[in-house]
Amino acid sequence: MALPSSPTREFIAGLPKAELHLHLEGTLEPDLKLTLAQRNGIEIPQSTVEEVEASYQFDSLASFLAVYYPAMDVLVTEQDFYDLAHAYLLRAAADGVRHVEMFFDPQAHTVRGVPFADVVGGYHRAAAEAADFGVDAELILCFLRDHSAESAAATLEASAPFKDLILGVGLDSDERDNPPAKFAAVFARARELGYLLTMHCDIDQVGSIENIRQVIEDIGVDRIDHGTNIVENPELVELVRARGLGLTCCPVSNSFVTSDMKSTEIVELLRAGVKVTINSDDPAYFGGYVAANYMALAEHAGLSSAEVVTLAKNSFEASWITDEDKAAYLEEIDAYVADFV
Ligand SMILES: [Zn+2]
Repeated sequence: MALPSSPTREFIAGLPKAELHLHLEGTLEPDLKLTLAQRNGIEIPQSTVEEVEASYQFDSLASFLAVYYPAMDVLVTEQDFYDLAHAYLLRAAADGVRHVEMFFDPQAHTVRGVPFADVVGGYHRAAAEAADFGVDAELILCFLRDHSAESAAATLEASAPFKDLILGVGLDSDERDNPPAKFAAVFARARELGYLLTMHCDIDQVGSIENIRQVIEDIGVDRIDHGTNIVENPELVELVRARGLGLTCCPVSNSFVTSDMKSTEIVELLRAGVKVTINSDDPAYFGGYVAANYMALAEHAGLSSAEVVTLAKNSFEASWITDEDKAAYLEEIDAYVADFV
C-alpha cells in the first residue's frame, strides 16, 4: 500500500477513472474552433486563439449557453464530429480515463441541417478508435430541454436506427421552466427502446428539489447529472443513497455557473455514502479536464488520498458497464494504489 498522504496531481492523473458527465460539444477548444471555421468557410467573430478564449466568459448557466450554442456552428461534417471527439479522447486518456460515457446534443446540429447520421457517425468512429489508446468510450444522446417535447420525441425516433451505437439518453440545456415532467413521455419511450436514462438537475435552480424528486420517482432515472442540491433534503439523500444512484458532479463547472464549486455539498454527500463522481462537464469552456476537477476539489476540500480513490471507484460503480467490467476496473485501481511510489 503506497497511498500518498495527500493526493498529488501525478497520483490523480494516473488513477484509473471513468468520466460520466462530459459534453462532446463542450470540448471545442479554441484552436479546433478556428480550424473548423476555416475548413468549412464559416465566418466567426474571432480570428485568434486569444480572441476565442476571451469570448469564453460567463457567470451563469444562461450566459454560458449564449456562448456555447453559436460556437457549434463550426461543426458541419462527419469528419468535424470525429475530430472533436478524437481530440477529447486523447486528453481523457492522458488524465487516466479508462471508460467514458459522452453526452452529445444532436438537436443543436440537426436544426442547422446537419444529418443525424453524420453527428453520431463521426462521434462513434472516434469512440471506437479510442480503444487503440486504452479508452472504452460510449455515447449518451441528450435532448435539449429548452426545445419542445415533440422535438425530443422526433430526435428519439431518429436515433432508433443507431440504437446499437448509443448507450442511453439524457436531458440538458436550460432547466428554468423546463422541468423533467415535460419529457416524461419521451423518457418512457426511450426506456421502451432499451436506453438507460439520466437527466441534468442543475445547481441551485428554481425548483431544484422538486425537479430532482421528479427525475427519481416519476422518470425513474438510472443516474443524476449534478443533483447536489439533494443535500438540502435528507429524505432525497437517503433515497439516492439507498438506490445507489450515481451523482455526476462537476466542481470546476460549478464555479463558473454559480458562486463556488460546491465542494462542501459534494464532500458532505460523498461522506454520507452517496455515489458521488467527479467529471469535467464542458472542459474547453471551463478550463479543466477531469484530473483538474479531482485536483481542484481535493485541494479545496482537503480530501484524503483514500477519498480520491473512493471517487474514482464510484465513477466505475455508477457507470453503465457490466458488473464484470466494473470488477476489473476496481481491481485496476487497487493495483495502481498498491504500486504507486
Ligand atoms: Zn452538463
